[in-house]
Amino acid sequence: MRIAEPYRIKMVEPIRLIPQEERKVRLKEAGYNPFLLRSEDVYIDLLTDSGTGAMSDAQWGAMMVGDESYAGSRSFYRLEKSVQDVLGYQYLIPTHQGRGAEQVLFPLIIKHSGQYVLGNMHFDTTKAHIELAKGRALNFVIEDAYDSSTYHPFKGNFDLEKLEQFITEKSAENVAFILITVTCNSAGGQPVSMENIRGVHDIARKHNIALFFDAARFAENAYFIKQREAGYANKSVQEIVREMFSYADGLTMSAKKDGLVNMGGMIAIKDDEDLFKQCQSMVVPFEGFPTYGGLSGRDMEALAQGLREGVEEDYLAHRIGQVEYLGDKLRELGVPIQYPTGGHAVFVDAKAFLPHIPNLQFPAQALANELYLEGGIRGVEVGSFLLGRDPETREELVSPVEFLRLTIPRRTYTNNHMDFIVDTFSRIMERKEQINGVRFTYEPQILRHFTARLEPVDQQHTEKK
Ligand SMILES: *Cc1c(COP(=O)(O)O)cnc(C)c1O
Repeated sequence: MRIAEPYRIKMVEPIRLIPQEERKVRLKEAGYNPFLLRSEDVYIDLLTDSGTGAMSDAQWGAMMVGDESYAGSRSFYRLEKSVQDVLGYQYLIPTHQGRGAEQVLFPLIIKHSGQYVLGNMHFDTTKAHIELAKGRALNFVIEDAYDSSTYHPFKGNFDLEKLEQFITEKSAENVAFILITVTCNSAGGQPVSMENIRGVHDIARKHNIALFFDAARFAENAYFIKQREAGYANKSVQEIVREMFSYADGLTMSAKKDGLVNMGGMIAIKDDEDLFKQCQSMVVPFEGFPTYGGLSGRDMEALAQGLREGVEEDYLAHRIGQVEYLGDKLRELGVPIQYPTGGHAVFVDAKAFLPHIPNLQFPAQALANELYLEGGIRGVEVGSFLLGRDPETREELVSPVEFLRLTIPRRTYTNNHMDFIVDTFSRIMERKEQINGVRFTYEPQILRHFTARLEPVDQQHTEKK
């Protein structure tokens, strides 16, 4: 049985749909790049689920008792207790967000330049921090992750055979560590099964390689295990979380996702006191004294409470259910999406939706613009526009997927908003053949998708030329 939102609203933030004529002007001013829109001109903002969720009354209440002491803050100890209870790890180093944790930990565990870090699919800042620490980041996710149309319950899984073969070939000394990203963000928020985690653990143990989690969406992953994996239906999400983490040596976490806070992150370590002490000394120059690490006392209070709320099953059932609801409605309409729907976002296959737009006229970007024009909704392109050029040859690269990501913030929108998104798509469906691709009017050298400016390509005009 589907239940309604397991919360009621105590505080509201007004949003408004500005008139369509105005949206046209705003989008043009933003260079047909939704990243450059002002949030007040957006009605439903699905740019990211990172730090955009709503906190609970208990979290806001906890913030009022934050202890802002520089050293030995009471709020630190409350967060440490929460990490021990929920995640099952003894040692905590708070950081201001996930990348802060990566910056501190990775140089300590990448021992020499060129060492490999093997993951299912590394997140982009994670890959960047591995490379800054002179490591080499490689992905071992199963092939099914790249096939948006076929069902697989755990598309975030490692290809264990490939992983083991690589380690045997290159020798274990050349591997710094293995990193399991849960859920697998880059593959569309797809989960990793417990069986697969255990398999990675066995390989790591056999070759004496350290194993860590990139744990941003740990609770969503645990919920999928409970739903989909044999033998877990009767375990609590809390038990599943503890079991997942029992297989690794530690984790980095962006708490802006399942930690249910607007800013925060951490390193947590199972029991290696020596590594903990090294992290404690390295966190000081980058983030701050080890009992605050870039967070204020009130931030640590909010996170201590958020970790506990993040594993509550009513919340997770609604959260995952809401994303699935949007995915199902879009599928019913005939909109092609990455299937099954992931934990935090619906990925629309824009190449299949708009087959008349060539990859290098960025079909998912064109669809993102259309979604804004039609309904004031902001999604984000994950395709060739994001991928950018080959750093050496400067040639345009074609992405294997052209996705429009609709990322759902936690506890923020109701299913009424989801229905509005679906209605907007149904209006776009009627005239999708008339949607034009886009081309650059300004293209920055690196990370172009954030600040590039574009214009619609006039099809008839191009054809005549
Ligand atoms: C968000 C995220 C990060 C980086 O965290 P920030 O808090 O944005 O610095 C790392 N890994 C994954 C899987 C993420 O989703």
